[in-house]
Amino acid sequence: MLNMRLAPRVVNLKPSVTVAFMNRAKTMKAQGLDVLSFAAGEPDFDTPQKIKDAAIQALQAGQTKYMPTMGDAQTRQVIADKFERENGIRGLTPEHIGISSGGKHALYVVCHVLFDIPEPGQPAWECVLPVPAWVSYAPIVELAGGRVVEVPTTVETGFKATAAQIRAAITPQTRMVVLNSPSNPCGTMYTPDELRQIARVCDEAARTIAPDLVILSDELYEKIIYGGIEHFSIGSVPEVAERTVTLNGLSKAYGMTGWRVGYTCMPGAFGLKLTSAMATLQGQMSTNITSFVYPAIRTALTECAAEVEEMRRAFAGRAEVANARLARIPGVKNARATGAFYAFPDVSSYFGAVSPGGRKINSALDLCEALLAEALVAFVPGEDFGGCGARHVRISFACGEAQINAGIDRFEAFLGALRRG
Ligand code: PLP
Repeated sequence: MLNMRLAPRVVNLKPSVTVAFMNRAKTMKAQGLDVLSFAAGEPDFDTPQKIKDAAIQALQAGQTKYMPTMGDAQTRQVIADKFERENGIRGLTPEHIGISSGGKHALYVVCHVLFDIPEPGQPAWECVLPVPAWVSYAPIVELAGGRVVEVPTTVETGFKATAAQIRAAITPQTRMVVLNSPSNPCGTMYTPDELRQIARVCDEAARTIAPDLVILSDELYEKIIYGGIEHFSIGSVPEVAERTVTLNGLSKAYGMTGWRVGYTCMPGAFGLKLTSAMATLQGQMSTNITSFVYPAIRTALTECAAEVEEMRRAFAGRAEVANARLARIPGVKNARATGAFYAFPDVSSYFGAVSPGGRKINSALDLCEALLAEALVAFVPGEDFGGCGARHVRISFACGEAQINAGIDRFEAFLGALRRG
């Protein structure tokens, strides 16, 4: 073996705990074990046929060559219209829209355009991040040279940061404030009023101490809502519209995780500058997304409301089962899920216990390890989501109600069989 090194930047990257548990559940299933997996953050629904047909037709028609880096004007216009019609974000032209290979890639490109490695002796630009949060925000911001400033939240307040907390975390170094509603991993949502209050403090802070502040609103789960809270885009608030990047994609709402489509908008003159810089970066990175996918994006955004609604209803039914069942388990504290397809209960009252198989449960990771090994149920331990996540497990209910009931039966029985250590 040659004695060569890898870049420390990458060596120090933490692999995704979600993927680790998902893969372990898959391996155990392949060995014939009856594992019930609640680990994957992807809908179990297939992509609607109309969307597949649009891509197949484009492929057969020969749309197989390079295209403009950020997407063709027609598709970018369809996305601009979607943001205006559904999200109330005005003043967008195709040049304000970026299309990347998934929401994650879009976020990566945005972060590399907004952050930089600090000059020696200079402080890093900061990213204000309410936690628990999706596991990829921190690594992506840090790879771009930013420093994450966590804003802690709790299960009691539905894992939502208050406007006052966000304001207190903003400094002259603040470059980005990340908001994710509905939330992965928490399954909760900010109300329109809460987002307006956050917009107000961001606007005030930007005018006084943080002129470079950009709000990054991750709305990947906007279509999967069922708890009576309306989805609201902070980018529609006029005072912050031109300092807000709204991030979305087709993965979650359309059953299209494998297609890799993400997109962004930011109105105004800076939005044009940002999107053009994103094009320069992406042009040296991956160029455009797969060419024959563009017509599929247009079909998804203009012709698939009924299919999306059908999936939303299924998620609503599943959430009702998960919410009701988790609320009845002794020692488990859960914030009612109102969006996305996750529950994120606090299981810390069981820390210190010992499993029937003799495993000591001192953390969410221990609990998930024992649950998988002894009850064949895969949840994701909450440590890597940050903040109070270390006391929680993430349950993705992107599966049928029968599996949810069976999984929670096993979880409940497993907890009931724990002995105090
Ligand atoms: N944002 C959130 C909150 C997510 O949970 C995910 C995926 O899990 C993404 C963005 C990125 O999704 P994709 O890259 O599939 O568009």
